[in-house]
Amino acid sequence: MVDAKAGSRVQSGRLAGKRALVTGAAGGIGRAVVEAFLGEGARVAAMDLAAPLARLADIEGLVTAPCDLSDRSAIVAAVEGAATALGGLDILVAAGALKGGTGNFLDLEEADWDRYIGVNLTGMFLLCRTVARIMSKAGKGGRIITVGSVNSFQSEPNAAAYVAAKGGVAMLTRAMAVDLARHGILVNMIAPGPIDVPNNGTMYREPRLAEELRHEVALERAGRPEDCAAAALYLAEDRSGFVTGSTVTVDGGLSAMIFGGMRDG
Ligand code: NAD
Repeated sequence: MVDAKAGSRVQSGRLAGKRALVTGAAGGIGRAVVEAFLGEGARVAAMDLAAPLARLADIEGLVTAPCDLSDRSAIVAAVEGAATALGGLDILVAAGALKGGTGNFLDLEEADWDRYIGVNLTGMFLLCRTVARIMSKAGKGGRIITVGSVNSFQSEPNAAAYVAAKGGVAMLTRAMAVDLARHGILVNMIAPGPIDVPNNGTMYREPRLAEELRHEVALERAGRPEDCAAAALYLAEDRSGFVTGSTVTVDGGLSAMIFGGMRDG
């Protein structure tokens, strides 16, 4: 683990004194959350697979916590290590996930099903349970922010394992909100739509997909990782203290609309 005091990047201190764990921290959305939280005065532990985590070496003042969320036995130790390094945990943002399709349902292999459910749902459960236990033992409440997807509510072709896991995250979020309320732990989900992250390459900017987004997204474009980080910041700070079991959808109006093409007519 690498540890150092957060430097001079504090903006308005909305998370001053808070200690946050962010998974998927080396990914597009996770990194944006890490930077936003550090910028608001939080101390942050960044969790991801070891190799991508090395990409965060340029961020000053970060605790790094390598962990493979498919490795059930590693999750508890990695979370507890991060909590010890930060001196406790007030916030979890769980953005780490396997993304992508698994082919047509008729050809979906059990191994792929297990991989997606293992990381994106069972990994999420073990992560959140470990964090919730640390928070409830400390007795000061906390915030758990899961990252689902618009696929938590709507499917798309060739992605049954991903979609099923993300649907599970939506209900896991609500179940945790109900059970953890008495401990002062508020639990909410962010549901991103199409977000232009480096791991997606130029996908959302290529002419065919850009044209599809123009029809399918009310705002006619993909979002930025910072759009999701802003939602996470709101759900992490004190002023959202009556919000639990909710979903903040960050999708430019994708899921609010059908037949977007008719706008042109
Ligand atoms: P990303 O690929 O940039 O980030 C995902 C991160 O998860 C990566 O850094 C990856 O290393 C990590 N990860 C993958 N498998 C892991 C494992 N076994 N153990 C630990 N870490 C692992 O993608 P992103 O777009 O930043 O995605 C962040 C979250 O947002 C994910 O939960 C994703 O499902 C969700 N999401 C993204 C979009 C989008 O369009 N970008 C849309 C809907 C939902």
